[in-house]
Amino acid sequence: MNAPAPSASLPGHPFVHRRQGELHIEGVPLASLAERHGTPLFVYSKAAMLAALAAYERGFAGRKARICYAMKANSSLGVLQVFARAGCGFDIVSAGELERVIAAGGDASKVIFSGVGKTAQEMRRAMELGIGCFNVESQAELERLSQVASSLGQSAKVSIRVNPNVDPQTHPYISTGLKDNKFGVAHEDTLRVYQLAARLPGLQVVGIDCHIGSQITQTAPYLDAMDRVLDLVEAIEAAGIALQHIDFGGGLGIDYAGDTPPAADALWRELLGRIDARGHSGKLLMIEPGRSLVGNAGVCLTEVLYLKPGEHKNFCIVDAAMNDLPRPAMYQAYHQIVPLSPREGPGINYDVVGPVCESGDWLGRDRNLQVQSGDMLAVLSAGAYCMSMASNYNTRGRAAEVLVDGEQAHLIRRREGAADQMQNESLVQD
Ligand SMILES: *Cc1c(COP(=O)(O)O)cnc(C)c1O
Repeated sequence: MNAPAPSASLPGHPFVHRRQGELHIEGVPLASLAERHGTPLFVYSKAAMLAALAAYERGFAGRKARICYAMKANSSLGVLQVFARAGCGFDIVSAGELERVIAAGGDASKVIFSGVGKTAQEMRRAMELGIGCFNVESQAELERLSQVASSLGQSAKVSIRVNPNVDPQTHPYISTGLKDNKFGVAHEDTLRVYQLAARLPGLQVVGIDCHIGSQITQTAPYLDAMDRVLDLVEAIEAAGIALQHIDFGGGLGIDYAGDTPPAADALWRELLGRIDARGHSGKLLMIEPGRSLVGNAGVCLTEVLYLKPGEHKNFCIVDAAMNDLPRPAMYQAYHQIVPLSPREGPGINYDVVGPVCESGDWLGRDRNLQVQSGDMLAVLSAGAYCMSMASNYNTRGRAAEVLVDGEQAHLIRRREGAADQMQNESLVQD
């Protein structure tokens, strides 16, 4: 092997690099953050988020387009603020997320509200704050929204989420555009539901929406979905219902383990080719990327607590767990795990596991590591669907979070304590 370069970024993680062997995010050594704030600790690179956003913006240069960050990927206020300041809209899936957008300085008029189970109360709150559009996922929801808007004497802007019935070839739990998924209106019902939307009071049809899944690493499913959405656009407009925008969802994958998803600008070059060829260039294009904007901008730092050798398996027990990093337990997902300061010599194979009392509490299996108790590890690609899915299982406080900007590190969430967790609970008084 060649001697490591004095500063080399990790493949797929351009803002995570080693300087004299020590792992850094942008200009900040990660070991210094672990020492200052403790572990487990999430650390995000602002430059990585903005670079990921810029790739989409390059793809849309000269077009009418809006990027709505799908904030369920990471809804921490300090992260939302980065995207709000960059002019993004937000794709939300609950009224709670809308309150976060407002708290982070986002613009409600650039918010689109997705999700199959919006309550009447959530609809009212969203209309009160003046959101941009509801992505409606069923006929029953459309009828409910019509009632809510009418009762407020307002008109709700709607786009209908269609299910294009294409296989995105990703994990079944994160594929959403197949017939048997709970999401969207079936392709064959779409025109009828649009005609109903055009008739119902309190609704203003503005667009069409689709989102076929997540961690998609191929171009073909997107092209198929685009063709099917454009078929519907043409059928809907032929029926006399004008559409101002096409919202093409999110779902672009990231490099977790040598995955090679298309670059955002390259993907959109191809998709825009389809849109132009079919004469729809005049419409506003909206997208809802989540993972691809934040996933590889974040790492989770964790300390090795104990090494536990066994007859068949060796365990490396760390202080981060499935409550902090739920993706391995939930989707058998792979995250790279690397030492902050590599040691000399050959490693041995470990299952990297957390302290939670569940056999499902593992972060990585069969990882070759040269580590000792007290060493610090970084779990990579931890910017998306980690903190936003974190729980208090085992009464573990949620981790702290730091946003790095060049040489500066800002604490954007303090570590949760036991008192924080118990604050809404009470004993029965008798
Ligand atoms: C989750 C979700 C997204 C974002 O998906 P990513 O894979 O994170 O890009 C976009 N739109 C909707 C409706 C979603 O539910």
